Amino acid sequence: MPEGVYKVRASLNGLEKAEDFAEEYNKICLRYAEKGMEKDTEMENRIIFATGNEGKMREIRMILADIGLPVVCMKEAGITADIEENGKSFAENAAIKAKAIMEMTGEIVMADDSGLEIDYLDGAPGIYSARFMGEDTSYDIKNTAILEKLQGVPEEKRTARFVCAIACVLPDGQMLQSYGTMEGIIGYEIRGGNGFGYDPIFYLPECGCTSAEIAPEKKNELSHRGKALRQMKALLQEHFDGISEK
Ligand code: IMP
Repeated sequence: MPEGVYKVRASLNGLEKAEDFAEEYNKICLRYAEKGMEKDTEMENRIIFATGNEGKMREIRMILADIGLPVVCMKEAGITADIEENGKSFAENAAIKAKAIMEMTGEIVMADDSGLEIDYLDGAPGIYSARFMGEDTSYDIKNTAILEKLQGVPEEKRTARFVCAIACVLPDGQMLQSYGTMEGIIGYEIRGGNGFGYDPIFYLPECGCTSAEIAPEKKNELSHRGKALRQMKALLQEHFDGISEK
């Protein structure tokens, strides 16, 4: 690093609120400015979440609200990229997306890959959940088709899970990865208006309703995405912990 240039890596640890992070960050900047030093422009102060799915983004924003950095979606970051998800697993697809967008932007990029695994259908639609029956087909049609495939199948064979893998690629190329699942069963009818995608047919026995019938906060507490994001938040905090200034 050239002399006189400093790098601020404000520790995220213990800084629960975005305002606290901003305050700490500004204090460090001021201290260096007083010494007549310039800020390293490589310092990135936001996370790009590589998704265009609004339903997912709503959940992500709620869960990452206290991460201490603004989280923007691809559209907000002004990126239009169609990355081919040609991995063989959720984790591989998340890594492909995050790596590609980090290489385009040089910023901190998080990406997830998620989907529904239905045991009776040998894990389908799995990594093809978004593409199942065509990307533009409505979820009313997709959900009805799944209910038909499972017609007459007894409850004990209707087990399923939502899966979410997250990858976070840092500007230096390091990758952090996390994973979460939510177990349930495929219901017998379409129920509920919350959530998105397959939520209206995903019955949560412990709640006595589908994941489209629970409050968004409750879904975030239980969901595959909530679990994977909280794990990722902890990994990032661990990563930044102790590297407050350099
Ligand atoms: P991705 O954008 O490739 O991760 O696609 C994930 C797809 O899986 C979504 O478009 C939904 O069809 C499904 N999916 C993932 N998470 C959820 C969820 O929490 N509720 C309902 N459907 C989900």
